[in-house]
Amino acid sequence: MTGARWALMTVAGLVTGAVALSARPGRVGGVAPASRTGGYQARQQQAPPAEPLAPPVLTADYDYTRLVRIWNIEPPAGGAKQPGYAEPVGARIIQCSNVPAASGLALLASTGFTLLQTDSDHLSTEETRPNIWDFSQPDAARGLALASAFDWCYFPHFAFPPPWYSQRIQYVRVRCLEHDQAVEAWSPWDPNFGYFISRGYERLARHYGAAPTPAFYLGVHGDYGECGLMIGARTSVPGQKEDWERRFGNLHNHVEWWCADTSAKASFRTAMLSKYGSLASLNAAWRTSFRSEDEIAYPSGVSAGSRRYWLDWVAWYQQGVSNLTDVVCRVARRSFPEALMMLPCGFGDEDPRTGVDNSMLAKIAARHRVDVRSTHGGFRPFPQNQATMLGRLASACRFYGAPFWTEPPSTISPDAQVGRIFEAITLGARGHFDWASNVQTGREAYYRYGKHMRISKRVVDVAMFYPTTSHLLRPGQGYPRTFEQGCSAIRDVLDYDIVDERMVLDGALERYRVLVWWEGAVVEAPVLAQIRSWIERGGALVIYDCGKIETVEGDTSWFRDVLGYAGKLTPTGGTYRFVPIPGTRIEDAYRISVGNARAATFLDGDWEQPETTGGVERRWTGAEADVKIPVHGGTDLVLSIRASFPPEAVGRRREVLVNGTQVGILDLAGEHTYRFAVPGNLTAGRNVTRITLRCETFVPAAVLARSQDPRNLGVWVTYVQLAGEDATASTSEPGPPQGRFEVAIDYRRLRGEFARKLGSGWTIYFPARKEQLPAYYEAVRYAVYHLSDLDAKKQDAIVIDDAWDGVYASLCTDKAIYYNPGPNRALRTIVLSPSAFAGRADIGKPTSLTHELTLEPASISVIPFGRTPQELLLQCEKFTSLGELKPQDGAGFSPGEGDTHVLVPVNGQISTRFECPAQGRYRVFYRAWRRNALCPANVTVNGKPCGQVPGHLRARASQQTLCAGEVSLSKGVHSLVVRPLPGQDIRADFVVLAADPAVAGYGFAAK
Ligand SMILES: [Zn+2]
Repeated sequence: MTGARWALMTVAGLVTGAVALSARPGRVGGVAPASRTGGYQARQQQAPPAEPLAPPVLTADYDYTRLVRIWNIEPPAGGAKQPGYAEPVGARIIQCSNVPAASGLALLASTGFTLLQTDSDHLSTEETRPNIWDFSQPDAARGLALASAFDWCYFPHFAFPPPWYSQRIQYVRVRCLEHDQAVEAWSPWDPNFGYFISRGYERLARHYGAAPTPAFYLGVHGDYGECGLMIGARTSVPGQKEDWERRFGNLHNHVEWWCADTSAKASFRTAMLSKYGSLASLNAAWRTSFRSEDEIAYPSGVSAGSRRYWLDWVAWYQQGVSNLTDVVCRVARRSFPEALMMLPCGFGDEDPRTGVDNSMLAKIAARHRVDVRSTHGGFRPFPQNQATMLGRLASACRFYGAPFWTEPPSTISPDAQVGRIFEAITLGARGHFDWASNVQTGREAYYRYGKHMRISKRVVDVAMFYPTTSHLLRPGQGYPRTFEQGCSAIRDVLDYDIVDERMVLDGALERYRVLVWWEGAVVEAPVLAQIRSWIERGGALVIYDCGKIETVEGDTSWFRDVLGYAGKLTPTGGTYRFVPIPGTRIEDAYRISVGNARAATFLDGDWEQPETTGGVERRWTGAEADVKIPVHGGTDLVLSIRASFPPEAVGRRREVLVNGTQVGILDLAGEHTYRFAVPGNLTAGRNVTRITLRCETFVPAAVLARSQDPRNLGVWVTYVQLAGEDATASTSEPGPPQGRFEVAIDYRRLRGEFARKLGSGWTIYFPARKEQLPAYYEAVRYAVYHLSDLDAKKQDAIVIDDAWDGVYASLCTDKAIYYNPGPNRALRTIVLSPSAFAGRADIGKPTSLTHELTLEPASISVIPFGRTPQELLLQCEKFTSLGELKPQDGAGFSPGEGDTHVLVPVNGQISTRFECPAQGRYRVFYRAWRRNALCPANVTVNGKPCGQVPGHLRARASQQTLCAGEVSLSKGVHSLVVRPLPGQDIRADFVVLAADPAVAGYGFAAK
């Protein structure tokens, strides 16, 4: 027993432990594996029955101190076999990358990638001449992938016809409203476009229809094949810009309404007449006076009197893109009924001019058994990412039953890679795409956390209301800003899904206990009716003073009926305090550099995204933007603001207020540092001061020549600084405050005044304005975790992390998972409540209720519910019975240094006793080496040969083990013997017994 223990170490322990090992200097990969395809046939015949097909070994500089798993993932299927969202829980997330150079394949295999993707030319098709198709490039890439046992995915595009087609054949080109100028791509409204796409897929089916069926990423339209239209991306990226100009002779490509072509206009007239039945009804709904059907035109803008006209038009426009997406999915599925297919869902915001309608795309994908790939993986820091398109698409996929993937839009830093993995796991991803260049730089994250990349189902009963209608009525605003701000901030203390108006109408609220409102004063009447009915049946709506909600037609009766008591409540904002980090005090001077990522905590209201120009970080304000700065209240202070605006925007009012009192104005064009005296009485009794920049805004596109910027902007700010008069004289620049804001709200008033029963449910109206969002966060947190305090019949969310600590957590059915994105180590004691888990058949039972977590900077930690599969690593040099044989060194064997293996002579053998901690069915993988190649050996357990592995093990590039078969082991001590085949000697390296059916073998990390 005691002799057995030291021979044993779990692979999980080794993989994690290897992180430290890898940091040791001076490691040299001794034995470079040579190609062993030559001896392949002979070994096949001698091999035990379950030996995998050996893939070619590709040159890689391996780190023999670190074992990695090679996953046994079948070629992914779609079609009839496709599971729904986040199913089956526990299956490996499929990892997909682009096809790298051959030398990069081993790294991809060692980091868990099994599917490789090739893009077609995004701006043409393979039909090089009429009826002549050239697939030589994808064929070569496919050949490389398949030869190394990877699966292959193709990304075809049909929106841009090939040049000969454009020259000879009539088709309707997509055309922008602003310039009435076309791009050499199909109009989504041209009825012949569908036939063109269908012909392309039929040709693909003829070429690739035979097994193995590839997977497809379905190009739809846009700069890169997204489900949307052009946004000027290709003409702003160096290299791609020149390519575009060479092909098309211009650089015409930008964000715009791409519906100026005649097919589009005709489609609009037909669709609207069909919607309203007659011109008279249409005019009545729109408050227009078209005299004939031909006169029906697009609206010129949105105004309060013509909301319906505008919304009908935007909906028709988005529907054009959605219909095109539906066509692409349908014809692709017809040609490849069983293939895995994914839709590229992208864009940096939800500007309706892109045509993107995210929840609709998930709905369409589910209809055709197609997966959704959100190209927002790691696009923003994690909490902002979940609050925006990535989280939206995941929520819609979850509801409509479409499997979800993520893909990064570009380069991902190694730290952000950890966030991406957390995102993929917690949002229930079935698949994970990454560029091979990111895998190269971020491989450490894959080596550390790859084992957690399994399909997970989050347990979430809180929904954030996405204000679809209000958003579409503000076409200049790319994404609802207060929604984003609130959802990003509150993610620290709770987890949620995002539900938009379509999803409400389709019944999504039935899945949730609490609905949280951030903004959206105009909502479609049937949506409001659904929400009311859901509350009356037991739901809880949480809302604050974000305006009186009305329907598109201006009816406010819903607000009166559901939240009529709101007007009688005395406003509250909570008590706001700044708490410096332990051991420090509030200083005499602080500077908030608003463009810096660390400034976000101190900003409220209308701030645009940060931008860096000439090395200086700045942000634009909108109409009213706030900065909160801790102060010693009651002393005389000096407020300094560095800000600018262009001369064209002069003459608009830009006021500076301190806690609501004006102290000055910003009135000089160009960049200036303004200084204002702040008398002590303006800050008396406060620990936090609010600086407000209130501006009459301008639109750059309207006042600046050559600007296409549609935003409403106030002033461009570098920093806001508040300092005592002495500190102002100092030459050193003050920094930002170190600490956090804490808000206390009056829970007695919340229960007694703000919360009202409606049917079986509740409304909680928190009478605070947008400036007091942090106080509202506390009201939301109360509704999520303490609803039973209000109503004993109500459930509370299960607490796994409800603290404002910068650590993000998700509860899944099989685990709790934590992510620390910060630069400091976080220590957490997690105490799970047994009663919260009782009666939840959908959630696994934690094996222990108290967990001490050490979260290193940029790290993930998991508390599994139930047992995780065992992996037992037996190093041959530590076998208990080596007889006369001596362990040998050799850096090409695990663990890479010191004694690493045993040379077993002809007719020799080595054996060991080992302890199995859990009963189960184990696969026996071993590494035995002879003449610079893997060599089969006889491995027996408890005196018997191993049984055959059911099914088939998929070996892949960089695999370094063979499989001897399967054995059933009880808990306790067992014995294992390794013997060379007759007439051979071997270098015996290690044996792993793995109870995880997802493992196909083991390899080494790439250096
Ligand atoms: Zn244009």
